[in-house]
Amino acid sequence: MGFRPFVYRLAQRHRLSGWVRNTPAGVIVEAQGEDAPLADFMRAITAEAPPLAVIAAICSEDIPPVAGEGFEIIASGGGAGVIQVAPDCDVCPDCLAELFDPADRRFRYPFITCTNCGPRYSIITGIPYDRPFTTMARFPMCPACRAEYEDPGNRRFHAQPIACPECGPRLAFTDAAGNEMAGEPLALAVELLRAGKIVAVKGIGGYHLAVDAGNDRAVGALRRRKKRDEKPFALMAPDLEAIRAFAQLDAIAERLLEGPERPIVLVEKRDRTQMGLKGRGTGDPHISPQVAPANGYFGVMLPSSPLHHLLLRENFAALVMTSGNLSDEPIAYRDAEARERLAGIADAFLCHDREIHTRCDDSVIRVFRGNPLFLRRSRGYVPRGITLSAPQRSVLAVGAELKGAVCLTRGEYAFLSQHIGDLKNPATLRSLEETAAHLGRILEIRPELVAHDLHPDYLSTRAAAGMGLPQVAVQHHHAHMAACMAENRLAGEVLGVIFDGTGYGPDGTVWGGEFLLGGYAGYRRVGHLDLVPLPGGDAAIREPFRMAIAWLHRTFGAALFDLDLPCLAEVADRKREIYLRMIERGINSPPTSSCGRLFDAVAALLGVRNRVSYEGQAAIELEALAEEGGEAGAYPYVLVTTGGGTVVDVRSMLRAIVEDLAGDEPKAFIARRFHATVARAAADVCGKVRAACGVDQVVLSGGVFQNRLLSEELAGLLEAAGFQVFVHRLVPPNDGGIALGQAVIAGHAFS
Ligand code: ZN
Ligand code: ZN
Ligand code: FE
Repeated sequence: MGFRPFVYRLAQRHRLSGWVRNTPAGVIVEAQGEDAPLADFMRAITAEAPPLAVIAAICSEDIPPVAGEGFEIIASGGGAGVIQVAPDCDVCPDCLAELFDPADRRFRYPFITCTNCGPRYSIITGIPYDRPFTTMARFPMCPACRAEYEDPGNRRFHAQPIACPECGPRLAFTDAAGNEMAGEPLALAVELLRAGKIVAVKGIGGYHLAVDAGNDRAVGALRRRKKRDEKPFALMAPDLEAIRAFAQLDAIAERLLEGPERPIVLVEKRDRTQMGLKGRGTGDPHISPQVAPANGYFGVMLPSSPLHHLLLRENFAALVMTSGNLSDEPIAYRDAEARERLAGIADAFLCHDREIHTRCDDSVIRVFRGNPLFLRRSRGYVPRGITLSAPQRSVLAVGAELKGAVCLTRGEYAFLSQHIGDLKNPATLRSLEETAAHLGRILEIRPELVAHDLHPDYLSTRAAAGMGLPQVAVQHHHAHMAACMAENRLAGEVLGVIFDGTGYGPDGTVWGGEFLLGGYAGYRRVGHLDLVPLPGGDAAIREPFRMAIAWLHRTFGAALFDLDLPCLAEVADRKREIYLRMIERGINSPPTSSCGRLFDAVAALLGVRNRVSYEGQAAIELEALAEEGGEAGAYPYVLVTTGGGTVVDVRSMLRAIVEDLAGDEPKAFIARRFHATVARAAADVCGKVRAACGVDQVVLSGGVFQNRLLSEELAGLLEAAGFQVFVHRLVPPNDGGIALGQAVIAGHAFS
């Protein structure tokens, strides 16, 4: 994005010597000079950065002065850290201007691109990164394009996906049966969308299903046909101004939205008070309340391809753009497959003949403390590297089960793959194996080791066993901790607060509310949440009321059914005995210390939700409720010291919640107090561990830390107590980031 020339000019202006170079993990600058100009230089890097540059973070350290004068740009090329494959990127400002310039030969051409922009990772079939090894291979360049391609002074010099209306891919518009319709494809798509129809649109990494976001009936139809009862739909708006009409933006959200990666960013609805938590309306005529019911946020993105720009600009204030799939299936990306799988959902298809080679879902980000917090790291970020604290042997890590993603390492770089989906069937398993092979090929990595979860039954674990490489089994929460350490380049000993859904514990219980002391080489469990049964195993994940019963039983014993709580009505009188027996005898009810399940239990207690249609839904809605609550203090809890570490006993909190419910305390305050209690209890445990072991670096990881309110409260308490707190900024805290941790632990085990 012209970042190196920008740094060069800045260095000249401040009379600094040194160099700047690109690495797979970002830009490295070595600058030498007097204190004041150096400080000004540092400030200017953020303040004056080129429009397309996204500065996720700046890390600096003092190094000894060296001899030498002048400032230089060190060319990439050569060396172990160099990769040829860039992430997919939205159209650049120059190409965008041409796209809407009637005098340009690519006026309104949806496949306009140059050296600075366009698809990369999704269209690459092999290396070297050259046109024959992309899905553009089948389009011979016309003389005009070839001339640009060969002219070193041209913006399209060696732009591999170069194309124009003469020689490049074409749009097509078909009905649901696949018959091409006469007329201009884009105009037809706009017309159908205006009429409230559902149109499947081929994007960069797969198909989206689009409807007019302002058309309540159309959004409802999409919800029904997609069998997606409550999960929020993402929105695409033509520009920031359009988003401001229905959501609140700050400078960081704007920078993330406008970045070339074009992620979905979660932004607060503009008027939450009018909105009402249960989705009574958005207070905005452009957005149907069915887009994101029971949620204070919209997931929004800006166009990520020229086709999107053409579709949106001057046509729609916002479109729903949700992944082209049925709930829980991977996104469709091949044309024939898309037509087949989306046939019952889409009324028509806006497609084209440039193939997508690698499926890449949209990335999803929240803003936390001025940095991105990834909920899903995929299109736009893959295969960007992450710099590790030390070089290691090449490892393939296969992740866990939910939110699958693999990680490959080479030297001091780790490469996390795109989001693969939940590994619950052979199709996603195949996708995982293909991804590992393809990523290895284009990054030229031959793994020497394979790392996997400790859980013997995960499909990923079985796949790892069949790879013919030495295996390293990694405990789930140790991997979460190592992922957070790795991206923060920590080494040595830290304390990990790992609040998660579920993971296989080496003691046969289901872990998920863990305090781990250690590093890459190993860990010791120094504390955890109290154990309760997980009644019915996986069924308890789908039905949070089961967790409420488990926690109520832990607190009140068999008398729990005497309580007057709406969630208990889920269990008919005749079934109550069965539940009690199941819990008391541990039948199909493994003990769990899961923090995510505690959130589920409290959500059910508060009447937020007894059943969920996707993992984490109850906790997300509980957080939304708590955000309405305001400061409200914490509930009591007890820390119990045992041989196995500190156990957080929250029975007194549950008793207080039940009392508050009986006293008609507003539920938002109860939800808020619950968040505060979990944060205080966790900070207390950290204090005890520090008193015993002297550790003062804390990493926060695990899926529960997608919860911003909890993260904010806990990080604040820990910092106030003098801890150094590290959170995720480069990979998700959920299982989507776990492969990074597995890879580093395995690399360490075989160093
Ligand atoms: Zn461009
Ligand atoms: Zn051409
Ligand atoms: Fe996890």
